[in-house]
Amino acid sequence: MDTPTLTILIVVAVVLALIGYWALRRRRRPVTRIEASGRLGKTAGVLGAALRGAWDSGLDDSTWDEIEEGLLAADVGVEASTRVVQALRSSKPETADDARELLAVLLVSELDDAPRMLHLDSELSTVLIVGVNGTGKTTTVAKLSARLKRDGKKVLVGAADTFRAAAGEQLELWAERVGVDVVTGQEGGDPAAVVFDAISAARARGVDVVLIDTAGRLHAKKNLMGELKKIHRVAAGDGEVDEVLLVLDATAGQNGLAQVREFAEAVPLSGIVLTKLDGTAKGGIVIAVENQLGVPVKFIGLGEGVDDMEPFDPDSFVGALLERS
Ligand code: GDP
Repeated sequence: MDTPTLTILIVVAVVLALIGYWALRRRRRPVTRIEASGRLGKTAGVLGAALRGAWDSGLDDSTWDEIEEGLLAADVGVEASTRVVQALRSSKPETADDARELLAVLLVSELDDAPRMLHLDSELSTVLIVGVNGTGKTTTVAKLSARLKRDGKKVLVGAADTFRAAAGEQLELWAERVGVDVVTGQEGGDPAAVVFDAISAARARGVDVVLIDTAGRLHAKKNLMGELKKIHRVAAGDGEVDEVLLVLDATAGQNGLAQVREFAEAVPLSGIVLTKLDGTAKGGIVIAVENQLGVPVKFIGLGEGVDDMEPFDPDSFVGALLERS
């Protein structure tokens, strides 16, 4: 073989080896993507920072304790934290990098693998938004309307929190800003009647998706749950409600979780919108929420603006949590 041919062969071999190495690295690091981290505020990297000491001191018994403490501090919950650390420990990773990668895989595997897309396949899809007052329901209705509108859907929102006049007014303002139709009721009126009117108006106007904002005053819990059941019945009509989304404030931590169990008993939840993740360092609550409620987190709220909501993606979320700052 002459020298130029040999040189070309060597160059081709080196290039192929480099491409192979690059592809291997990409394959080995799927869970450390950090696209979401910029918008996750305090949550981003909090676990990574808490665990830095654990990795830096080498892998020994104190490492596993520090990791467990870090997970608990991030609100992952006792059961999941114990499970994850036991699995990590028994797999006997040899290096801190291996342990970190495995930790990411284990945290992702703690999350539901159910589909996280909204199922809005009906000719007129109905979405109920439920949750405790102040968690961000009305803001979530606005954020979802804007997102669906961007996707080319015709949207109408119904203000079924007739208990507070301000709630209807707030939703009207949002609807105007986003550019979607709104149906409101009389203050103190029957919320189920607003749902009926909203759905009738939506049908008449050829709307694709109706989003219903509901009340969440916890001091009248019994009435509230009865009211929600009635709203759900009316919204279902002869068919089914397409999505029932529970809005949960991430900053309320484990307490917030305890508050919402009755919602899950009153209406069949199909997903969770976890709001205010920009304002907490305890992003691990996502794992506790899914574990304890058995319902997938479909969206995360990352601010007060209409575009501050993203579909929840376990890989990039866990990657952001574990980011080394
Ligand atoms: P509702 O009573 O459940 O309808 O709650 P609202 O939609 O009125 O929201 C209550 C407060 O939380 C408002 O000040 C919102 O701007 C704020 N909020 C809602 N979602 C988010 C979020 O994802 N991040 C932050 N930082 N604030 C939020």
